[in-house]
Amino acid sequence: MARKTIRSIPQQRALMPVQEPEIRAKNFDEVALGFDTENALLECERCLVCPQPACIEGCPVNIDIPGFITRMIKHDYRGAYNLLTDSTLLPAVCGRVCPQEDQCEGVCPVGAGGTLEPVAIGRLERWLGDKAIAEGWRKTSHIEPQPFRVGIVGSGPAGMACAADLAKAGCKVTIFEALHEPGGVLRYGIPEFRLPNSVVDAEIGAIEALGVEIKCNTLVGRLFTIEQMLDEMGFDAVFIGTGAGSPRFMDLPGEGLNGVLSANELLTRCNLMRAGQFPAFDTPLGLGKRVAVIGAGNTAMDAMRVSMRLGAQEVNCIYRRTETECPARKEELHHAQEEGIAFHWLTNPVEILGDDNGNVRALRCVRMELGEPDTSGRRSPVAIPGSEFDFEADTVVYAIGTSPNPILGQTSKLKLDKRGYIQTDADLATSLAGVYAGGDIVTGAATVILAMGAGRKAAAGIKRYLGIRDSAVVYAAEPGGLEGSMFGIAQNERNFTHVRLI
Ligand code: FAD
Ligand code: SF4
Repeated sequence: MARKTIRSIPQQRALMPVQEPEIRAKNFDEVALGFDTENALLECERCLVCPQPACIEGCPVNIDIPGFITRMIKHDYRGAYNLLTDSTLLPAVCGRVCPQEDQCEGVCPVGAGGTLEPVAIGRLERWLGDKAIAEGWRKTSHIEPQPFRVGIVGSGPAGMACAADLAKAGCKVTIFEALHEPGGVLRYGIPEFRLPNSVVDAEIGAIEALGVEIKCNTLVGRLFTIEQMLDEMGFDAVFIGTGAGSPRFMDLPGEGLNGVLSANELLTRCNLMRAGQFPAFDTPLGLGKRVAVIGAGNTAMDAMRVSMRLGAQEVNCIYRRTETECPARKEELHHAQEEGIAFHWLTNPVEILGDDNGNVRALRCVRMELGEPDTSGRRSPVAIPGSEFDFEADTVVYAIGTSPNPILGQTSKLKLDKRGYIQTDADLATSLAGVYAGGDIVTGAATVILAMGAGRKAAAGIKRYLGIRDSAVVYAAEPGGLEGSMFGIAQNERNFTHVRLI
């Protein structure tokens, strides 16, 4: 077969249906609805199947991207899925939320010239992940039982990935999760309109099917310590994947007023406690009508778009640098702008003002300008003297980053760095024998795929520590595994209403 060239492939990306902004800003349904089969196959045709695929190198877990695309072209979807899941355990999640533009798609030669868009690798990964969920595919292994018990602290992507690899290696694995539902940020942070809970449920279900037990409502460090897990509870090794979920504030005057909250609180109360479904769920959020969100990262975008959907009349983003330095994914910024969020660049808050009842009434801000580049190479924002002004708001949301929860550091002998993150060696072993750690609790806030990669790396370290050799993985059909779930219907073949194609 003649080799494909950039000229011979379809020049335009296959179309992705999305909900119209004015409609989606009022509901929590997913914004981007996924390729249908025809468009997925059309997009596959755009892959050059490069002899030295840059995309594999660009992917943090080195997915064999041309390999799974080639199988899709041959309609061997099951084979494509099996190859994909050799590297990622959460394809339907990662296909939706990974920053592909900075990873695999960022290095794809199809997009290198700047005239064409790169192959839509993330959308194809999502399509395969959704198809697997819809058809109840599961990859199972011949598991050689081992006499080892491993305890995992935290059920985010790091903990789940570590748990899955160890369960496949034959260990008896128990995950302890502080919250009442598993999934970490996938559940409590990323909103339903970007990542539906049904997708998270399905991918966690696949991990439970390997025999992993998940115990929620279990705050390790309060109910028992890491040392007790090893010395008294019979665990042979422990993995810590507790993330970095403690919010940061700015220490501004007025932070104690009613109406000041963190983006993590807002998102948790909406996603996990279903504030968006009040009165069906009796846990309303009491958000005001004029919301000001401080920060412009992905968490800020989520907090603003959730506020809009919860009924705020006006949602404002306050950011001290310009749009050029905005750290959010371009797609998320674009979606937020389309949904009517107002962006106030070069603006910094200095005080939160209250009324006589102790409620927020305004945010005092100062105008900024960009000065000399700092050590990171970015031009630092500098306040313009005398430029203070008051910005009317009844809710102020902080989305300026997070830090690790201190409880495990306070209750164990784990060695931490000076910011409170757990110190590990190259294998992700901590200072305590048999205890490994990975994900945001080691690196600071990062990404789903990096946390997942860390969980798998730690699992490899734990296997070596326990003296377990790798066993061969085989693939087996498990028909109907997810029948009855929301994805029991073929999700990619839905008829869409109120959508447009991008
Ligand atoms: P987490 O996902 O934080 O999971 C840690 C889990 O441990 C939590 O469930 C927590 O309750 C539990 N835990 C904590 N302490 C204890 C304890 N003592 N005992 C028991 N359980 C405990 N990344 C992307 O790639 N794409 C995105 O679009 C994206 N969007 C994001 C949006 C938001 C709002 C946020 C906050 C983050 C986003 N991220 C995104 C980042 C990404 O979600 C994280 O990097 C990733 O989830 C980290 O995984 P983790 O397993 O290390 O920790
Ligand atoms: Fe296909 Fe792009 Fe990967 Fe090349 S780099 S194999 S074109 S997806």
